[in-house]
Amino acid sequence: MAEGIATASGIPDFRGPEGLYNTLKTQLAQDPGLLTATPAQIKKIMETPIYVFDCDLYRENPVIYNEVRLALILGTFERKWKPTIAHYFPVLLHMKGKLLQVVSMNIDGLLDRVGLPPDKILDVHGNITRVACESCGAEMDFADFVNEVKEKTRNIYDPADGPDKSTPIKCRRCGNATVKPRTVLFGSNLPKEFDPVTKQVMPKADLLFVAGTSLQVYPANTLPGMTSKNAKRVVVNAVDVGEELGFDYDFLEGKCEEVFLELIIELGWLSDLEEVSRGNLTESSVELIRERKLAEPNA
Ligand SMILES: [Zn+2]
Repeated sequence: MAEGIATASGIPDFRGPEGLYNTLKTQLAQDPGLLTATPAQIKKIMETPIYVFDCDLYRENPVIYNEVRLALILGTFERKWKPTIAHYFPVLLHMKGKLLQVVSMNIDGLLDRVGLPPDKILDVHGNITRVACESCGAEMDFADFVNEVKEKTRNIYDPADGPDKSTPIKCRRCGNATVKPRTVLFGSNLPKEFDPVTKQVMPKADLLFVAGTSLQVYPANTLPGMTSKNAKRVVVNAVDVGEELGFDYDFLEGKCEEVFLELIIELGWLSDLEEVSRGNLTESSVELIRERKLAEPNA
């Protein structure tokens, strides 16, 4: 599962037309002083926006990460976003004893809030709510980190809030300015569980859903190819992706929450969905269920 499952939660994606990279580029063009960065660093980010999450840039200047990530860090802490129907689909599979593994490329921690056992979730690109020092590995409580980030990071999203100047967050153990959420930067290693878990579960799967991803990011995009020859693969996305990756699949076109709702209704699991997600579902998903039930009262 990837960022497309969370756009309905209101979390901006990275690569879409209004995704983080495009927004950042537009804003930097208008205001090169937006980030605490050297002209050379700004130039590189403008040329290649994903450079903003590159491990070399982080080593040079760790405050840029906190500035760009501030909205997601604070929003996650304040529980600004709620899970969608797509986040609950694996919960229903788990309830029916059919879930092998969720492999998530999202860092927003929303899958931690739907009631899945932690070992069923593999966060390929890390998780914004788990904080540690990149130098010595010392962990920091998310709430403590949020307090420090608020105190030490200029709010580029709301300049009236927070300090005028950004300063780095220092590790309480080693003193290095390398404390950050354990999200995977470009050029750095994936979590150590990635290889053992994917090698173990992928060949065992007889059904694989690939949801809300552009399948552009290596190595997560190699996972569909690791399933057995007889496995069924279903791509759920707004646009067809994956043709060039060379595996057979069925394509279900649409927004993730809509497609998964149809599947859930088809499977006769709608009442289960309503029960497990009560009070914890994002507004658009609640609305979809309401509309769907009005259209088809017996669904
Ligand atoms: Zn440290």
